[in-house]
Amino acid sequence: MNEQTLFRQTRWRLASWYAGVMGIILAVSGLGVYEAIDHAHRTAADRELQAIAGRLHDNIEPTLQQPGEIPASAQRFLPDPCNSPSQCTETVRAAEHAPGEMFQGNYYIRLLDPSQDLVALAGLKPPGLISSSSASEWQFLKDRDKTRYRQVTLPLQNPNEQLWGYLQVGSSLKDSDRYLSSVRLALFAGLPLALGFVGVAGWWLAGRAMRPIRQSYQQMQQFTADAAHELRTPIAAAQATVESVLDLPQLSEAEARETLQTLDRQNQRLSQLIQDLLLLTRLDRQIQLKQNDACCLQDLVSDIAEELAALALSKKIQLLTDVQVDQPLWVNGDEAQLYRLVFNLVINAIQYTPEGGKVTLALDQQDQQAVIQVQDTGVGIVPEYQAKIFDRFYRVDSDRNRQTGGSGLGLAIASAISQTHGGKISVQSQPGQGSTFILSLPIGSVRQPTPTL
Ligand code: ADP
Repeated sequence: MNEQTLFRQTRWRLASWYAGVMGIILAVSGLGVYEAIDHAHRTAADRELQAIAGRLHDNIEPTLQQPGEIPASAQRFLPDPCNSPSQCTETVRAAEHAPGEMFQGNYYIRLLDPSQDLVALAGLKPPGLISSSSASEWQFLKDRDKTRYRQVTLPLQNPNEQLWGYLQVGSSLKDSDRYLSSVRLALFAGLPLALGFVGVAGWWLAGRAMRPIRQSYQQMQQFTADAAHELRTPIAAAQATVESVLDLPQLSEAEARETLQTLDRQNQRLSQLIQDLLLLTRLDRQIQLKQNDACCLQDLVSDIAEELAALALSKKIQLLTDVQVDQPLWVNGDEAQLYRLVFNLVINAIQYTPEGGKVTLALDQQDQQAVIQVQDTGVGIVPEYQAKIFDRFYRVDSDRNRQTGGSGLGLAIASAISQTHGGKISVQSQPGQGSTFILSLPIGSVRQPTPTL
């Protein structure tokens, strides 16, 4: 699978998962909101119904005598009652003394005798309301038009505590059902719309999330290709040397020695490359430094100047040191790695400075940072390359650098070491005038005593 297809498919998959999960969350939230609205409506309606039924019950019950018979004193609470549902074709208007709110809403009142036959009906006349038993106190009923009603049933007793019958008060749920069905519609229509937005957002977010992964994938591919290329160069050179020698009919001792020296050179180049790659891999994995390791920068600067003095001399370059601090500067970290870091900067400065030039290795302190500057009067680096020279295998001028033996890993290693030590490297350069590499490292908490000689 090529890179394009792989990333496109992964992006699709991520976006789909995102949309799917968000869809479920939205659906569950929508359901929750709907349930909450439904519950709030139901509770409010039940509370109102219970209040009305309770008031009616308390008013009617003291007036009752014979089971199933409605005394005249109870009539005022039941305006224009009818004895059977068939007689009750119109909504009864509120009587003067009847609790007004009872008929302002969509309510009906029914009185049943002990055998649950209808004795009177007042208020709304729901067509074909399926009469139900009074067994349960709270019920949902439906009329012929499928309008739903909520009904509460309360038993009525006469003063002798004899069961007179039942009082049923019901209210129409038409308005509430209409409102709930509009909420349902909004949720059902809104969900696919929201899913569409989530899908687009998911696609965009997946693209953003994958950008660094794609970059590091491309870097890895580039690195593999560069590493293979760099490894192939000395191997191909060694192979060519061996083949040309094998073609000779005879081999003198001098020729054999020369061939072996060439092979040795290529071999060393190869093993140096492998060591650099291994070091980079180790640095990539190194998360924390050992707390007790520390390195004195004054010693490091003078050791490097001493080691490279002969090389500078052979190239007719002046190598100077400029240490601005009196107290020993200690930084936490691996001494060998820090040595390699500064060594790489100085050897580059010597390599890229023509004869008669000058390289200065300076050490200073700024706040809590130790600052090492490697300044040369060499070829310099054009601005467009200055950010790239720290990339692995990057060389400004490949052919020229290959002659100097460089593989393009020197600054990548320096940068990786400085990062591992919490430091920073930057470069300031003017083409044709020279470059200054500035390395700052945090001064360590571990201060070791100055070694006594
Ligand atoms: P190399 O091993 O090829 O020197 P580096 O990673 O050390 O690779 O350097 C990367 C590139 O940066 C080199 O190709 C070189 O062109 C440029 N460079 C590094 N140091 C200097 C310097 N002091 N002056 C000019 N160019 C430099």
